[in-house]
Amino acid sequence: MAATILDGKALAARVRGELKLEVDRLSAQGVTPGLAVVLVGEDPASQIYVRNKTTACAQAGIKTFDHQLPTTTSTDELLKLVASLNADSRVDGILIQLPLPAGIDARRVLFSVDPRKDVDGIHPENVGRLLMGEPRFVACTPFGVMKLIEEARLPLAGANAVVVGRSNMVGKPMAALLLGADASVTVCHSKTRDLAAAVGRADVLVAAVGRAEMIRGEWVKPGAVVIDVGINRTAEGKLLGDVEFAPAAARAAAITPVPGGVGPMTIAMLLANTVTAAKLRAAR
Ligand code: NAP
Repeated sequence: MAATILDGKALAARVRGELKLEVDRLSAQGVTPGLAVVLVGEDPASQIYVRNKTTACAQAGIKTFDHQLPTTTSTDELLKLVASLNADSRVDGILIQLPLPAGIDARRVLFSVDPRKDVDGIHPENVGRLLMGEPRFVACTPFGVMKLIEEARLPLAGANAVVVGRSNMVGKPMAALLLGADASVTVCHSKTRDLAAAVGRADVLVAAVGRAEMIRGEWVKPGAVVIDVGINRTAEGKLLGDVEFAPAAARAAAITPVPGGVGPMTIAMLLANTVTAAKLRAAR
């Protein structure tokens, strides 16, 4: 069986093209979507992520407000910046690139973002809304995964979905979205006893662990849909997912590649959330 490759790069390009048209329409009405991007410290991976996000915004016509702060920034200084961004009518979305340096109280900072500008979908109000089936802003990575699944018309209702990983940014919102789409959801984590058996029951598998190829191809149920969120860089600089790609692809019905699967969708959904935030502003 040859799996269908779920091409996140192509879908993301299409979504971004559609968003650009929407941004053009909003801008013509005097509502240019704006995203504030806050980067604290010098983490090289974060610098790349932020650069990719601001470039994607520029291409879609979304205005960005860049705030690059030194590692020595205090929690209070960051809280002051967030308060000013919350009050700035040009700023529809606020993105605080994670991880924040160890000395900063990340929880206080993230909770201080106006939930109407929380385009990362991490504020408790937005997480709660998602759990209650009334989503407003959904975390960009799981949101992008759902778009990929919808686009491929892969059935979720009644399916056994297994999410490996329970982070606030990926695993938990992913599980909530799959449940909302009527899948029966199992969430696995580092204390799960028999991961191979759990994976083997998955009609839909989402791997979000951060360990290169830890999910063995032979665990995958024949005919499963495999979504690999993991991004792991080897010593040689190669990118690997959390799933052993070739043997998994030999068994799966559909699978995302790494790179070119979930990653591009994450950025596209950040733009989508920012456009949604601008529309909320226009409606106020
Ligand atoms: P995270 O916060 O480190 O969470 C990892 C999760 O994996 C935790 O829940 C952990 O369990 C679980 N885990 C660790 N070892 C395990 C094991 N041996 N068996 C089963 N579960 C295990 O990571 P994250 O932020 O969710 O990111 C996960 C991966 O996705 C990373 O590779 C990251 O780079 C990637 N990512 C990609 C995108 C994208 O756009 N493609 C976006 C975000 C993240 P415990 O809770 O028990 O510790």
